[in-house]
Amino acid sequence: MPISIVQGRIVDPSQHLDRVCNLRFEAGKIIEIDTPPRDGDDIFDATGKIVAPGLIDMHVHLREPGREEDETIQTGTLAAIHGGFTSVACCPNTLPPIDTQATVEFIQQQAARSGNCNVFVLCCISKNREGKELAELGQLFESGAVACSDDGSPVEDAELTRRAFEYCLMFDKPLLSHAEVTSLTKGGVMHEGKVSMLLGLRGMPVGADDVMIAQDITLAEITGGKLHVMHVSTEGAVGLIRRAKSRGIRVTAEVTPHHLTLTDEALKTYNSNFKMSPPLRSQDHVDACIEGLRDGTLDVIASDHAPHAAEKKMRELDQAPFGIIGLETMLPIVITKLVRPGILDWQGAIAKLSTNPAKILGLSNGIQPKGTLQVGADADVTIIDPDTTWTVRPEDFHSKSKNSPYLGWQMYGKAAAVYVGGKRKL
Ligand SMILES: [Zn+2]
Ligand SMILES: [Zn+2]
Repeated sequence: MPISIVQGRIVDPSQHLDRVCNLRFEAGKIIEIDTPPRDGDDIFDATGKIVAPGLIDMHVHLREPGREEDETIQTGTLAAIHGGFTSVACCPNTLPPIDTQATVEFIQQQAARSGNCNVFVLCCISKNREGKELAELGQLFESGAVACSDDGSPVEDAELTRRAFEYCLMFDKPLLSHAEVTSLTKGGVMHEGKVSMLLGLRGMPVGADDVMIAQDITLAEITGGKLHVMHVSTEGAVGLIRRAKSRGIRVTAEVTPHHLTLTDEALKTYNSNFKMSPPLRSQDHVDACIEGLRDGTLDVIASDHAPHAAEKKMRELDQAPFGIIGLETMLPIVITKLVRPGILDWQGAIAKLSTNPAKILGLSNGIQPKGTLQVGADADVTIIDPDTTWTVRPEDFHSKSKNSPYLGWQMYGKAAAVYVGGKRKL
């Protein structure tokens, strides 16, 4: 049965569209925009709501295989749907890591069985994520991996990164970099600065990110490869990426909601839900990230959803693992902290949450276009209630883990309905 979404405010940056009109889809594809519903249509009244191309979180840890106590593909994709996402890209730091075709196919099968959102696989750059030997990138891309990353760890070896860029270029895939000089971060718990000194905790200096990003940018320039910098958190990184873009180097970048809204001051609570890598920085870095987001230096907002079971996060701060969940709070944070204060308009917000990640991952053209509501595109649609208010409570998360720094926060807005391939999932 055709579905008509009526009277919603359609925000689609791919068509520079922002006005109240109707959207119609059938058999998993968008078939009409701006036409009245027909007899027999299933009608969704979206009055007062935003109708957007399905949101895409391009940086998610689903933990399966190997760490099902933290998250599974089933629970992670369910959390994604409740957060308003129709697609996620999952990171390869699983056990075993995603460095073989068999593991790529396992993820694809588990995602299909879960039947929640689309899951796009990121494969390893190096075998076993050891940063020593290249993974079989050609085979991995052919089996469906959309990009490669050793996320969780950097690839520090410049020659290995250079060769990875050359392989990626042959398949027109981006390399996603977790940029970190590990000799500078060893033993670190939080951002190196006044607060780490005050608390007597070992710091992770901004240089650890900036030095590696400079190396990655240089190698992208030399090879002509496409670099995507994950979780940008420093003023220096924003500056490096801004300059690289102005010189025509193929670099894109993402920032997480937490690096836009929280600072290292939060560590004064010793609460491990504020411990992540890269760490929460000081306010000047947060301000630089917001400016980078506003001026287009940072293309994407991604959650770096990193679930950890409660018993792991309850350890002492220096023993607790890095990372926080983010799928179910990202859209509300964007609305509450970026759209409502006027830092981003709706076009900008949806570009960073859907259109841009689709372009970077190569999903915006081809036979199954994502990140757009153009006629013929997949009917992946997120309908957002921008005004509803709610409080973040651990018992409401669909993720298996509850390690959020936003517990107790008052939020504006959340997903009201989610269609994946024309099927209603929320
Ligand atoms: Zn990372
Ligand atoms: Zn990550």
